Amino acid sequence: MTSSPTKLFCPGSGDRKLIEKYGVPGPRYTSYPTVPQFDSNYTHSSYRADSEKYLQNNIAPLSLYLHIPFCQNICYYCACNKIVTTDYSVSRQYLDYLSKEIRMQSALVGKHRNVMQLHLGGGSPTFLDGAELTELMHMLATNFSLSDSQLREYSIEIDPRTVTQDSVALLKGLGFNRLSLGVQDFDERVQQAINRRQRFGLVQKLTETARLHGFKSISFDLIYGLPLQTLKTLETSIEKIIQLSPDRVAFYNYAHFPTRFTSQRAIARHDLPSAEQKVDMLGLITTRLVDAGYQHIGMDHFAKVNDDLALAQRQGRLQRNFQGYSTCLAPDLIGIGVSAISSLPESYAQNETVLDDYYSRLDQNELPVAKGVLLSLDDRIRWAVISGIICNLELNMGIIEGRYTIVFSDYFTQELLALKPMENDGLVNWDNGTMRVSELGRVMLVSICRVFDRYLHNNTVIKFSSV
Ligand code: SF4
Repeated sequence: MTSSPTKLFCPGSGDRKLIEKYGVPGPRYTSYPTVPQFDSNYTHSSYRADSEKYLQNNIAPLSLYLHIPFCQNICYYCACNKIVTTDYSVSRQYLDYLSKEIRMQSALVGKHRNVMQLHLGGGSPTFLDGAELTELMHMLATNFSLSDSQLREYSIEIDPRTVTQDSVALLKGLGFNRLSLGVQDFDERVQQAINRRQRFGLVQKLTETARLHGFKSISFDLIYGLPLQTLKTLETSIEKIIQLSPDRVAFYNYAHFPTRFTSQRAIARHDLPSAEQKVDMLGLITTRLVDAGYQHIGMDHFAKVNDDLALAQRQGRLQRNFQGYSTCLAPDLIGIGVSAISSLPESYAQNETVLDDYYSRLDQNELPVAKGVLLSLDDRIRWAVISGIICNLELNMGIIEGRYTIVFSDYFTQELLALKPMENDGLVNWDNGTMRVSELGRVMLVSICRVFDRYLHNNTVIKFSSV
């Protein structure tokens, strides 16, 4: 892929106006159509039929996602599907139900497909203790074909407060080779305001231990726009990140929706940085991380230039699924656990999001699918366009025309017109039928993608965090 011009996003130079112009709310496009378009007309029978049609006779590698919903403390900013409890016996019951779903999914897909990607997310997967995690991996190994390839990507989200150096060693022994650490911010006052206290020394020690045990990739998840965060505190946190040198960094934008997420009511609105300060924070994050040798993958994601993710993007083969960016070793994704989402070639399916409903469906010997969507041809064409932009920062009209037998300029007449102002403002540039996103445009990727989102044009009322 040709590199785009290297003008970085800089709030002081007029780019702030562009954020005001294009920074409208939009989905994060981990799928298209996005989750608000899923409905209950897609049932467990639809999922079964699609799995039999697309998954059984396929020999391509497989991707698995397992959702562990429990956390021992509430972080005030949280908008995840989680259950906060200090009753550790809940995980015993959950594992029993997971085991049932794993066996049902395995019976559908068969054991012949090599699992090249595995991700444990939550909640906090490390709510499970060492014995439970071992039991879970044993269940998966019994029912699926887990890969022992060096190229496999087996990752787990870590709450640093719930793991020790010994548990890091255990995770390596269980086959994980990637760790994702929830960091959020290193400033103590900010940590107190979000009810998530974890010393820098703790994250430092875990990072060093993970390196010692040969983990292939370490990611940090951080948030900007948190209460009491200032440019100064954020700058100090970024320096600490650079010092620890994780392979990947995700810097999410905090979205304050206290009416929707009750824990956010503990955050005082007057402690939050203003929209203007957040734009400055975004500029600071982008500049500092790129200067420190990270590639800006797009939106809020950064990876070291020699990381697989950065490499995949430069080679135009980056993909996106419900876990975010992926190097796509395995195209089909099976989601297991409460609220988990599966991605099949022509459909998406989401499990029950309430734990009792999830249990009750499994008690009836049904796959716990609650809703989903069958992809139309138009959905697939638009996802090819959107995922090309959001992952590989380009749109090649010829490739889309060849794959779907359409005349791009006829099919997307309105969309091409809508892109014109973005071209004039330097967010994208065209060269011989290929549109490329500039460095500046990477900050506003969602706004570029949403041009192709038919459901947003249909005025569907959906609440998203501002870009
Ligand atoms: S942010 Fe993570 S650890 Fe905190 S409550 Fe939410 S899911 Fe649990």
